[in-house]
Amino acid sequence: MRVGDRVVCVKSHSRGIVSKGKTYTVLQSRGCACGRVNLDVGVEIPSGHTEYQVCNVCGIMTIHNGIWWIASSLFAPLRFNSAHDELVNIVEEKIDVELPVRV
Ligand SMILES: [Zn+2]
Repeated sequence: MRVGDRVVCVKSHSRGIVSKGKTYTVLQSRGCACGRVNLDVGVEIPSGHTEYQVCNVCGIMTIHNGIWWIASSLFAPLRFNSAHDELVNIVEEKIDVELPVRV
C-alpha cells in the first residue's frame, strides 16, 4: 500500500478508531524496526495523550506527531471499482448455478 492509495479496513481497530468495511486514503506510511508497516489514514490522536506510540509487536516507542499510526494489516488495497464489479459477477454466477431449474 502506497501513499494516495484507497484502502478498505478489513479488521476493526481494537479501540474502534477504524471500522471494518470503511474506506480510507493512505496519507503516509512508515515502517517500524520490527518490520511492521504503519499507515496514517487521517486519524489524529486527541490531545491529552503522550507524544509516544508503542508498537504492539516489538514494544518500541516512537513519536507519533499527533497521528494515530495504524498497522497496515488492518487494511486491504481498494484500487479499482471493477474489483467490486468482478466480485458482484462471481456472486451472481454462483447464485445462477445454485438456483433450482424450472420445468
Ligand atoms: Zn515494531
